[in-house]
Amino acid sequence: MTMKIIPVQPFDLVIFGGTGDLARRKLLPGLFRRDLAGQLPHEARIIAAARRPMRSEEFQAKAEAWLREFVSKEELSEPDLARFLGRLQYLAVDADSSEGWEGLAETLRAGGERIRAFYLAVGPRFFGPICERLGACGAATPDSRIVVEKPLGHDLASARDLNARIAAVFDEAHVYRIDHYLGKETVQNLMALRFANALFEPLWNARHVDHVQITVAENLGLDGRGEYYDRTGALRDMVQNHLLQLLCLTAMEPPGRFEPDLVRDEKVKVLRALAPIGPANVTQTTVRGQHVARNGIPGYLDDVGVASSATESFVALKANVENWRWSGTPFYLRTGKRLRARMSEIAIVFKDAPHSIFPASAGAVHGNVLVIRLQPDEGVTLRMTIKDPGPGGMRLRGAALDMSFANTLGEKVVIPDAYERLVLDVIRGDQTLFMRRDEVEAAWSWIDPILAAWEDQTNGTRPYDPGGSGPEDALLLMHREGRRWRDITG
Ligand code: NAD
Repeated sequence: MTMKIIPVQPFDLVIFGGTGDLARRKLLPGLFRRDLAGQLPHEARIIAAARRPMRSEEFQAKAEAWLREFVSKEELSEPDLARFLGRLQYLAVDADSSEGWEGLAETLRAGGERIRAFYLAVGPRFFGPICERLGACGAATPDSRIVVEKPLGHDLASARDLNARIAAVFDEAHVYRIDHYLGKETVQNLMALRFANALFEPLWNARHVDHVQITVAENLGLDGRGEYYDRTGALRDMVQNHLLQLLCLTAMEPPGRFEPDLVRDEKVKVLRALAPIGPANVTQTTVRGQHVARNGIPGYLDDVGVASSATESFVALKANVENWRWSGTPFYLRTGKRLRARMSEIAIVFKDAPHSIFPASAGAVHGNVLVIRLQPDEGVTLRMTIKDPGPGGMRLRGAALDMSFANTLGEKVVIPDAYERLVLDVIRGDQTLFMRRDEVEAAWSWIDPILAAWEDQTNGTRPYDPGGSGPEDALLLMHREGRRWRDITG
């Protein structure tokens, strides 16, 4: 299927951390693909900024090697590559000193009137200083856009501080806080599914939905991020942002229009409706875990390289959204490292049919489950109960109606990488899929008391084996309420 191309205006995109992992694996390949699709105007410039001095030609040679590694051969033609590399410039700009900032401002001025965006693909300690230096050297104009990556703070106080430092230079209307989960095709499809179809919305409430499960499971360990991770943990690293964002999109009321602030208003209302978790209920509603070494697979402590740590590499929790729509329907969230498979999904588990007309010999009636799968293969399935085909009387069985877009549309659907879409949304000036300041702060307001309550618990972190579903207590979180987690399968 040919995707509809909406051309963008001429722009300068400055990537701080232009030599880093995110730039290599995601940003440059994503921009290359958009160029390939004809979406970048010929004036568009991509300016990589990092500390080490280097000529633009040297950077272009590095970028060529990264593109050859991270873009498939079929997509890489030599003329396209040459055109894209021609857009790239490199500037040495040191976030820690005044080195390079005047040169950056001058390069941008030379580009004339055009969209200007700064992408901070650097560690979080640089976010504040970079904003301040961009303001001081005049590189940031009143209309310039700023893109910041997670982590957006370590707790509510640090998030507020960071937001204030950004706001001192950039207007909120130009601030793009990336949560790349929101750039995933199926996550946006969740909104289409809910709000463009009359079928689901009448059922999308506590009367018909028994519970919702949101799982983001990883089969790998800490992947070299041990030191950072040990200061962070799964709750801050994954739940505060990605899982709560998925919860918001699932639970929110229909916005009046599909416009950035109307969508974000509804999401923030969900965050504010979350029942607090604190010392009184933290033990009943949360489980944290840490993977242990088993069968030659390193444990958490080996991954980090420390003798002891209480940091969680797994968390499961039960969240209640206290409003009319969801009262009594819990949202169970779980995420962790070294689990059975890499899998992310939202499962809407509907209540059973009120009465079964079938004899016991027909077998169990399977409740309906709508599954929105983010990875490994993006798609949507609806589990139904059907009659087992063939003679032999009425026998019931569960079957999944697969609404995978590739199958349904009967064409080759290219699902773009989340970053590819989000970077272009920044240039287009569309903030719908980015977090607003009050959203980030509302999420931290809910997370902070959980962290504080955990600190007061001794021995709160439960061990779990690699390759499984997390600690036993996480299973009990649901079992004791007569529910069970869906299997983690790749
Ligand atoms: P990285 O360590 O690979 O790259 C950091 C970049 O910052 C390098 O280009 C380095 O030259 C530059 N830098 C370091 N010190 C500097 C200084 N004083 N002045 C100017 N530039 C300096 O990091 P990364 O993995 O690319 O991550 C960057 C940010 O993106 C982090 O905040 C991270 O949490 C976030 N993030 C990364 C990923 C990913 O897939 N890598 C995913 C989500 C979020």
